Amino acid sequence: MKKKVIIANWKMNHDFYETTSYLRNLLKIIFENKINQKKIIIAPSFPFLHISNQILQGTTLSIAAQNIHQMDNGSYTGEVSAPMLRSIGIKKVILGHSERRKYFTETNEILIKKIKIALKYGFNIIFCVGETEVDREKKEHFITVKNQLEKTIFYFSLEEINSFIIAYEPIWAIGTGKTATPEIAQHMHQYIRTLFLNKYGKRRANDLSILYGGSINDMNAKNLFLQKDIDGGLVGNYSLNIKKFLKIIQS
Ligand code: PEP
Repeated sequence: MKKKVIIANWKMNHDFYETTSYLRNLLKIIFENKINQKKIIIAPSFPFLHISNQILQGTTLSIAAQNIHQMDNGSYTGEVSAPMLRSIGIKKVILGHSERRKYFTETNEILIKKIKIALKYGFNIIFCVGETEVDREKKEHFITVKNQLEKTIFYFSLEEINSFIIAYEPIWAIGTGKTATPEIAQHMHQYIRTLFLNKYGKRRANDLSILYGGSINDMNAKNLFLQKDIDGGLVGNYSLNIKKFLKIIQS
Protein backbone atom coordinates (compact mmCIF):
# COMPACT_ATOMS: atom_id res chain seq x y z
CA MET A 1 0.00 0.00 0.00
CA LYS A 2 1.40 3.40 -0.90
CA LYS A 3 1.91 5.67 2.05
CA LYS A 4 1.12 9.34 2.53
CA VAL A 5 4.40 10.99 3.46
CA ILE A 6 5.39 14.52 4.46
CA ILE A 7 9.08 15.36 4.61
CA ALA A 8 10.64 18.49 6.09
CA ASN A 9 13.92 19.33 4.35
CA TRP A 10 15.54 21.92 6.60
CA LYS A 11 18.61 22.27 4.36
CA MET A 12 21.34 24.36 6.10
CA ASN A 13 18.97 25.89 8.66
CA HIS A 14 18.29 25.57 12.41
CA ASP A 15 21.00 25.36 15.07
CA PHE A 16 21.08 22.94 18.01
CA TYR A 17 18.56 24.82 20.13
CA GLU A 18 16.18 25.50 17.24
CA THR A 19 16.33 21.87 16.10
CA THR A 20 15.68 20.31 19.50
CA SER A 21 12.98 22.74 20.61
CA TYR A 22 11.18 22.45 17.24
CA LEU A 23 11.11 18.63 17.45
CA ARG A 24 9.98 18.57 21.09
CA ASN A 25 7.20 21.07 20.35
CA LEU A 26 6.16 19.24 17.18
CA LEU A 27 5.81 15.97 19.07
CA LYS A 28 3.85 17.65 21.86
CA ILE A 29 1.39 19.28 19.43
CA ILE A 30 1.02 16.14 17.29
CA PHE A 31 0.23 13.93 20.27
CA GLU A 32 -1.97 16.42 22.09
CA ASN A 33 -4.05 16.93 18.93
CA LYS A 34 -3.83 13.28 17.80
CA ILE A 35 -2.42 14.37 14.41
CA ASN A 36 -1.03 11.09 13.19
CA GLN A 37 -2.49 10.20 9.86
CA LYS A 38 0.63 10.58 7.72
CA LYS A 39 4.22 9.44 7.84
CA ILE A 40 6.32 12.43 8.90
CA ILE A 41 10.06 12.58 8.21
CA ILE A 42 12.37 15.42 9.27
CA ALA A 43 15.75 16.07 7.64
CA PRO A 44 17.89 18.28 9.93
CA SER A 45 21.59 19.09 9.45
CA PHE A 46 24.28 16.45 10.07
CA PRO A 47 25.44 17.63 13.54
CA PHE A 48 21.92 17.31 14.95
CA LEU A 49 20.86 13.97 13.44
CA HIS A 50 21.81 11.98 16.54
CA ILE A 51 19.95 14.12 19.08
CA SER A 52 17.01 14.48 16.65
CA ASN A 53 16.77 10.72 16.28
CA GLN A 54 16.83 10.31 20.06
CA ILE A 55 14.04 12.86 20.50
CA LEU A 56 11.82 11.03 17.98
CA GLN A 57 12.64 7.54 19.31
CA GLY A 58 9.51 5.44 19.89
CA THR A 59 7.27 7.72 17.81
CA THR A 60 5.98 7.29 14.25
CA LEU A 61 8.07 10.27 13.14
CA SER A 62 11.54 9.64 11.78
CA ILE A 63 14.74 11.35 10.72
CA ALA A 64 16.47 11.46 7.32
CA ALA A 65 19.94 12.67 6.40
CA GLN A 66 20.17 15.24 3.59
CA ASN A 67 23.17 13.52 1.98
CA ILE A 68 25.76 10.75 2.27
CA HIS A 69 29.17 10.17 0.70
CA GLN A 70 29.49 7.44 -1.92
CA MET A 71 32.38 5.60 -0.19
CA ASP A 72 32.32 3.45 2.95
CA ASN A 73 35.13 5.43 4.60
CA GLY A 74 38.50 7.01 3.74
CA SER A 75 40.35 10.25 3.11
CA TYR A 76 37.42 12.49 2.19
CA THR A 77 37.83 15.48 4.48
CA GLY A 78 34.54 16.94 5.63
CA GLU A 79 32.35 14.11 4.36
CA VAL A 80 29.91 11.83 6.20
CA SER A 81 29.49 8.14 5.36
CA ALA A 82 26.51 5.80 5.30
CA PRO A 83 27.92 3.50 8.04
CA MET A 84 28.54 6.54 10.29
CA LEU A 85 24.90 7.47 9.96
CA ARG A 86 23.73 3.92 10.53
CA SER A 87 25.83 3.82 13.72
CA ILE A 88 23.62 6.60 15.14
CA GLY A 89 20.42 4.93 13.96
CA ILE A 90 19.68 6.95 10.79
CA LYS A 91 17.96 4.82 8.14
CA LYS A 92 16.73 7.33 5.57
CA VAL A 93 18.52 9.67 3.19
CA ILE A 94 17.56 12.26 0.57
CA LEU A 95 19.48 11.81 -2.70
CA GLY A 96 19.41 13.61 -6.06
CA HIS A 97 18.20 16.95 -4.69
CA SER A 98 18.64 19.65 -7.35
CA GLU A 99 20.73 21.78 -4.95
CA ARG A 100 23.20 18.90 -4.57
CA ARG A 101 23.21 18.34 -8.33
CA LYS A 102 23.81 22.07 -8.96
CA TYR A 103 26.10 23.30 -6.15
CA PHE A 104 27.98 20.05 -5.48
CA THR A 105 28.03 18.76 -9.07
CA GLU A 106 26.38 15.47 -8.23
CA THR A 107 26.13 13.70 -11.56
CA ASN A 108 24.04 10.62 -12.36
CA GLU A 109 27.24 8.54 -12.03
CA ILE A 110 27.86 9.85 -8.50
CA LEU A 111 24.22 9.35 -7.64
CA ILE A 112 24.37 5.71 -8.71
CA LYS A 113 27.32 5.22 -6.33
CA LYS A 114 25.43 6.98 -3.54
CA ILE A 115 22.37 4.81 -4.16
CA LYS A 116 24.53 1.66 -4.08
CA ILE A 117 26.11 2.58 -0.75
CA ALA A 118 22.77 3.63 0.70
CA LEU A 119 21.24 0.27 -0.30
CA LYS A 120 24.28 -1.60 1.01
CA TYR A 121 23.69 -0.09 4.46
CA GLY A 122 19.93 -0.61 4.36
CA PHE A 123 18.76 2.98 3.90
CA ASN A 124 15.42 4.02 2.54
CA ILE A 125 16.04 6.61 -0.17
CA ILE A 126 14.02 9.70 -0.97
CA PHE A 127 15.10 10.31 -4.56
CA CYS A 128 14.47 13.71 -6.20
CA VAL A 129 13.85 14.39 -9.87
CA GLY A 130 12.63 17.47 -11.70
CA GLU A 131 13.08 19.67 -14.74
CA THR A 132 14.38 23.24 -15.16
CA GLU A 133 12.27 26.13 -16.37
CA VAL A 134 14.02 25.93 -19.76
CA ASP A 135 13.16 22.22 -20.07
CA ARG A 136 9.52 23.07 -19.49
CA GLU A 137 9.54 26.00 -21.90
CA LYS A 138 11.00 23.68 -24.54
CA LYS A 139 8.36 21.08 -23.62
CA GLU A 140 11.14 18.69 -22.63
CA HIS A 141 10.07 18.23 -19.02
CA PHE A 142 8.84 14.65 -19.43
CA ILE A 143 11.98 13.56 -21.25
CA THR A 144 14.20 15.22 -18.60
CA VAL A 145 12.51 13.38 -15.76
CA LYS A 146 12.52 10.10 -17.72
CA ASN A 147 16.26 10.49 -18.34
CA GLN A 148 16.96 11.23 -14.67
CA LEU A 149 15.17 8.00 -13.68
CA GLU A 150 16.60 5.87 -16.48
CA LYS A 151 20.17 6.99 -15.75
CA THR A 152 19.98 6.37 -12.01
CA ILE A 153 17.41 4.32 -10.18
CA PHE A 154 16.16 2.28 -13.15
CA TYR A 155 19.49 0.42 -13.06
CA PHE A 156 18.31 -1.17 -9.82
CA SER A 157 16.26 -4.31 -9.32
CA LEU A 158 12.64 -4.58 -8.26
CA GLU A 159 13.73 -5.68 -4.79
CA GLU A 160 16.07 -2.71 -4.45
CA ILE A 161 13.48 -0.31 -5.77
CA ASN A 162 11.24 -1.15 -2.80
CA SER A 163 13.50 1.10 -0.71
CA PHE A 164 12.61 4.24 -2.68
CA ILE A 165 10.25 7.15 -2.34
CA ILE A 166 10.26 9.52 -5.33
CA ALA A 167 10.01 13.30 -4.96
CA TYR A 168 9.07 15.24 -8.06
CA GLU A 169 10.60 18.68 -7.55
CA PRO A 170 10.46 21.00 -10.56
CA ILE A 171 13.56 23.16 -10.17
CA TRP A 172 11.69 26.32 -11.18
CA ALA A 173 9.39 25.78 -8.19
CA ILE A 174 12.01 25.19 -5.49
CA GLY A 175 12.30 28.17 -3.15
CA THR A 176 10.78 30.50 -5.76
CA GLY A 177 7.18 30.78 -4.56
CA LYS A 178 6.11 29.49 -8.02
CA THR A 179 4.34 26.24 -7.12
CA ALA A 180 3.30 23.84 -9.86
CA THR A 181 -0.47 23.84 -10.27
CA PRO A 182 -2.15 20.65 -9.02
CA GLU A 183 -2.83 19.76 -12.69
CA ILE A 184 0.80 20.21 -13.77
CA ALA A 185 2.06 18.24 -10.78
CA GLN A 186 -0.55 15.47 -11.19
CA HIS A 187 0.34 15.12 -14.88
CA MET A 188 4.02 14.53 -14.06
CA HIS A 189 3.25 12.22 -11.11
CA GLN A 190 1.01 10.11 -13.33
CA TYR A 191 3.77 9.98 -15.93
CA ILE A 192 6.36 8.88 -13.32
CA ARG A 193 3.99 6.16 -12.07
CA THR A 194 3.55 4.94 -15.65
CA LEU A 195 7.34 4.75 -16.08
CA PHE A 196 7.52 2.59 -12.94
CA LEU A 197 4.62 0.48 -14.21
CA ASN A 198 6.43 -0.21 -17.48
CA LYS A 199 9.71 -0.96 -15.74
CA TYR A 200 8.69 -2.75 -12.52
CA GLY A 201 5.05 -3.78 -12.96
CA LYS A 202 1.67 -2.76 -11.63
CA ARG A 203 2.14 -3.66 -7.99
CA ARG A 204 5.31 -1.62 -7.49
CA ALA A 205 3.90 1.32 -9.47
CA ASN A 206 0.73 1.36 -7.38
CA ASP A 207 2.65 1.08 -4.10
CA LEU A 208 5.18 3.78 -4.93
CA SER A 209 4.89 7.00 -2.90
CA ILE A 210 5.50 9.97 -5.21
CA LEU A 211 5.82 13.25 -3.34
CA TYR A 212 5.58 16.74 -4.76
CA GLY A 213 8.15 19.40 -3.74
CA GLY A 214 8.52 23.04 -4.74
CA SER A 215 7.11 26.02 -2.84
CA ILE A 216 4.47 24.04 -0.98
CA ASN A 217 2.72 26.28 1.53
CA ASP A 218 -0.28 26.12 3.83
CA MET A 219 -2.53 27.55 1.10
CA ASN A 220 -1.64 25.27 -1.82
CA ALA A 221 -0.87 21.98 -0.02
CA LYS A 222 -4.45 20.73 0.21
CA ASN A 223 -5.21 20.92 -3.52
CA LEU A 224 -1.90 19.33 -4.40
CA PHE A 225 -2.42 16.46 -1.93
CA LEU A 226 -5.94 15.84 -3.27
CA GLN A 227 -4.50 14.74 -6.63
CA LYS A 228 -4.70 11.01 -7.33
CA ASP A 229 -0.97 10.46 -7.85
CA ILE A 230 0.40 12.93 -5.30
CA ASP A 231 1.16 11.01 -2.12
CA GLY A 232 2.46 13.85 0.01
CA GLY A 233 5.15 16.49 -0.07
CA LEU A 234 8.79 17.37 0.36
CA VAL A 235 8.70 20.76 2.05
CA GLY A 236 11.61 23.21 2.29
CA ASN A 237 10.93 26.77 3.39
CA TYR A 238 7.52 26.17 4.96
CA SER A 239 8.83 23.33 7.11
CA LEU A 240 11.16 25.69 9.00
CA ASN A 241 8.28 27.21 10.89
CA ILE A 242 6.44 24.75 13.11
CA LYS A 243 2.99 26.36 12.75
CA LYS A 244 3.23 26.50 8.95
CA PHE A 245 4.53 22.93 8.78
CA LEU A 246 1.69 21.69 10.99
CA LYS A 247 -0.84 23.30 8.64
CA ILE A 248 0.75 21.42 5.73
CA ILE A 249 0.69 18.14 7.69
CA GLN A 250 -3.01 18.66 8.34
CA SER A 251 -3.82 19.49 4.68
C1 PEP B 1 13.15 21.58 -1.50
O1 PEP B 1 14.21 22.18 -1.59
O2 PEP B 1 13.14 20.35 -1.44
C2 PEP B 1 11.92 22.35 -1.48
C3 PEP B 1 10.84 21.75 -1.84
O3 PEP B 1 12.02 23.67 -1.10
P1 PEP B 1 10.83 24.75 -1.01
O4 PEP B 1 9.65 24.09 -0.34
O5 PEP B 1 11.39 25.86 -0.21
O6 PEP B 1 10.51 25.14 -2.41
